[in-house]
Parts: sequence; C-alpha cells; structure tokens
Amino acid sequence: MAEKYTKIKKIYEGKAKKLYTLKGKPGVLLQEFKDDATAFNAKKKGTILNKGIINCGLTTYIFTFLKKRGVKNHLVKQISPNEQIVKRLKIIPIEVVVRNIAAGSLLKKTNLKEGQQLSKPIVEFYYKDDAKDDPMINDSHALAMKLANEKELNTLRQTASKINSILKPFFLKRGLRLVDFKLEFGKDNKGTILLGDEITPDTCRLWDKKTNKKLDKDRFRFDLGGVNEAYAEVRKRIIGK
Ligand code: UDP
Repeated sequence: MAEKYTKIKKIYEGKAKKLYTLKGKPGVLLQEFKDDATAFNAKKKGTILNKGIINCGLTTYIFTFLKKRGVKNHLVKQISPNEQIVKRLKIIPIEVVVRNIAAGSLLKKTNLKEGQQLSKPIVEFYYKDDAKDDPMINDSHALAMKLANEKELNTLRQTASKINSILKPFFLKRGLRLVDFKLEFGKDNKGTILLGDEITPDTCRLWDKKTNKKLDKDRFRFDLGGVNEAYAEVRKRIIGK
C-alpha cells in the first residue's frame, strides 16, 4: 500500500516553497514547490506557469544524481508533481554561492564584465537575513555570529566546490552553461551537514551553450520575456519532457 502523508502544520512559507510537518513522521518534512516567483528581496512579485512542478521535478532529478556521486542531501522521495519528502534539517543561515562565469551581483562588486569566464570558481557566503538584504560575509563574520564553526565553514566550501565540479559537466552535456548558483545546507539530528533546499532555474544561472541565451530566473527578474518557455526548456533538456 502507498504510504500516507498527512500534513499537520505549516512551519515555513518562503518565496518559492512551503514546509509542513507530517503526522507520525517526526524526522521528515513535506516540501511543496509553488508557482510564485519573487526577485530583488521580494520587491518584485509574480507567478511562473508550472514552476512548482518543474522545479520539484528538477530538484528531485539533480539531488538523486548528486547522491549517486556521494553528495549527502535531504531528499527522501518525491510524492506528487510538486511535493517531496525531505529529512528535517536545522538550516545553517548561510547561502553559499558558486560562480564560474561573471554575472549578477559580481558585476557590481568587481571590474569583471558579464560573461567573462573566471579562471577559477569563486565561492561566496551570504548571511541569510531578509531584513539585512542577505549581505555577503566572510568566515570571520560567520564565526562572530556563530552561524557555523571553522570546520563547518570548510565543509560548506568543499561541498559546494564538489557540487560545482559535478554539475558543470552535467549541465554542459545538456547544452547549458552553469554560470552561478546558490546552495543551502543544514544539519540532521546527528549534526551531519546535508545539502538542502533546491537546485533549479530559480537558484542557478543557466545559459544556452551555443547562443548564451538566459534560461533562468533572470528572464523574470529583468522582464526579458519567455519566462515559462525557459523553465520548460530546462526541464526538457534535463528530464526529457
Ligand atoms: N541566488 C539565489 N537566491 C538568492 C540570491 C542569489 O538563488 O537569494 C542565486 C542566483 O539565482 C544566482 C546566484 O545565486 O544564480 C548568484 O546570485 P547573485 O549574487 O549574482 O545575486 P542576484 O544578482 O542574482 O541577486
């Protein structure tokens, strides 16, 4: 018989997802993906057709692939087109960004031009705090705020680099350049650090390998048009439908 999942309580609702506790299952949560989209710290709002289903499917596919390559993550299983069962984690309030090609906020901080290949990937930490606009921080700031200890910061950096070295060729094989992306991590009840959250066109910049056409949330952020089509195209190239 198929396992039953009864939602008890919504414990989190963010820009793109909701999290629920489940009856009789204290170690896991139900993660629901929404069609809602926000940008610029929720100053811009909208919806993207089928985004919940597309992003849930993509995250399941990519997290399953990463697990096979030895990257521990929170995914247990997908139970409907836009719902997953995930291990309950204590989220570390640090967003880890990895960059291969200059784009986005890097252009404001440096003299690099959009599209410039970086000689070596850049890994950055941001303090996850909407009220402060998620500022970029270094290790000393993270340690001062006790967001993580030194060993944990190194684990975040090394795991993010490993994920990048797995996903760069993964996307390229599917005709997509992985420009940059954001990861979130959390600790399970044993204190082990696992990858959480999502990996989707909401959290990655993906450019077509041949034309450099943007196939990600930048189409929504900057009103470039063809938003729904871009998400559907990424799904087609990765999941094949
Ligand atoms: N990103 C994200 N959530 C955030 C901030 C950034 O998913 O709150 C992703 C973003 O989609 C891009 C990468 O992280 O793929 C780097 O983003 P950047 O620092 O350039 O910021 P942006 O200009 O996109 O806000």
